[in-house]
Amino acid sequence: MASKKKPQPRMLFADKDGQIYDHPDLLLLCRRGDEFGLPRPDEIIPLPEESEFFMLPGRHAMGYNAESGSVEVMEDLAVAAFACPAHTVTGVSAYESDEDAPALPLLSYAAIGYADGRFWICAKKVDEDQRQVFSKIAPDRVEAGAHQLMKDFPANRLVSHLAGCALTHGCPAAKNLALGRFECPLPTAQTCNARCVGCISEQPEDSGFPSPQCRIKFRPTPEEIVQIMQRHESRERRPIFSFGQGCEGEPLMEAELIAEAVKSYRDEGGTGTVNINTNGSRPQTLPALKLAGVNSLRISLNSTRKDLYEAYYRPVNYAWEDVRETIRRAHEVGMFVSLNLLFFPGVTDTEEEFDSIVELGEETRFDFIQLRNLNMDPELYMNLAKPFVNGPSMGFNNFRKRLRKALPWIKFGYFNPYLG
Ligand code: SF4
Repeated sequence: MASKKKPQPRMLFADKDGQIYDHPDLLLLCRRGDEFGLPRPDEIIPLPEESEFFMLPGRHAMGYNAESGSVEVMEDLAVAAFACPAHTVTGVSAYESDEDAPALPLLSYAAIGYADGRFWICAKKVDEDQRQVFSKIAPDRVEAGAHQLMKDFPANRLVSHLAGCALTHGCPAAKNLALGRFECPLPTAQTCNARCVGCISEQPEDSGFPSPQCRIKFRPTPEEIVQIMQRHESRERRPIFSFGQGCEGEPLMEAELIAEAVKSYRDEGGTGTVNINTNGSRPQTLPALKLAGVNSLRISLNSTRKDLYEAYYRPVNYAWEDVRETIRRAHEVGMFVSLNLLFFPGVTDTEEEFDSIVELGEETRFDFIQLRNLNMDPELYMNLAKPFVNGPSMGFNNFRKRLRKALPWIKFGYFNPYLG
């Protein structure tokens, strides 16, 4: 059966009061790196449920006039969308900024347009998992679950912290703990050995974009951690436990604490998937963690090239070579290894980056790539990345297709898989 032809969306813009309109003529443009162009038809989808869109202050909407073949910049403000989890942005909102435009918060900014009576976004769904879909869950179930946890474990500080995350910040990971489903977050680390430009748990005051989350302010005990693991395992048949959350520093800074907690969880019969989301800076910690029962490692990176990685992560007492060694050694000790590739259209999907990921995959044999978004003001990221980007974007779909071919054992998704 022939697939239905995708429409060509028209651009959106916002007036100064925040009212959003679709333009009667101008077509949607998107940005990939420093290129502006029409979205590729295979890289747009109807706006998924639970996504949000917003206007961009100090940034003027840009559209394509198909009749004259020219790009037009409007007085009105640009609009962008934040795609809900499980989706990767394939093209960023196109706009022209005022010189004094404020920095944008740490989110992703997909191009969004309108056609055939609906909104269309430059993004692709990359995972069918329903882990962060809450539309069918009554909010009072989360509330009741969080209160029950606090009632059952009144002295457990990590329970209070996570219940607060669910109730006050609406953190999806903490909400899932309260609901007793999917993946259980286990933050432990107060410090970090990197200074990521887009860190979501700590930002210098003058960065212009505050961190949306706060780092945990205490060191949990192994007992506090194990109580939560056992409780979650009693409610979820396929439990995943993840150290390394948005509300902490780098979990490998607390490798000993994690090893102690996980060993005790395994000694008492725990069978779930135990994962660490990490910057991959401390390869020497892996053998002990594997021995304790950690069986999955997810290494976050914006690039697999040293110069671009270090420009964004700004490592303090480690280097890209340590991250590479972590990926290699994690596979060697028998962990399931995922890359959390922070995708940015026009930077990640370029020839050089592609070649470098393939080379890393062939050498280290990692298992999985999570295609997430680099959440940061697009122009700030491009300023940082530009010196390291050569050549055009091949487009998200081509990038993924070619990776599948070059590294045929690798699976793709958005979330940490349960290792049954
Ligand atoms: S590795 Fe994580 S906690 Fe550390 S600076 Fe980067 S984003 Fe922040």
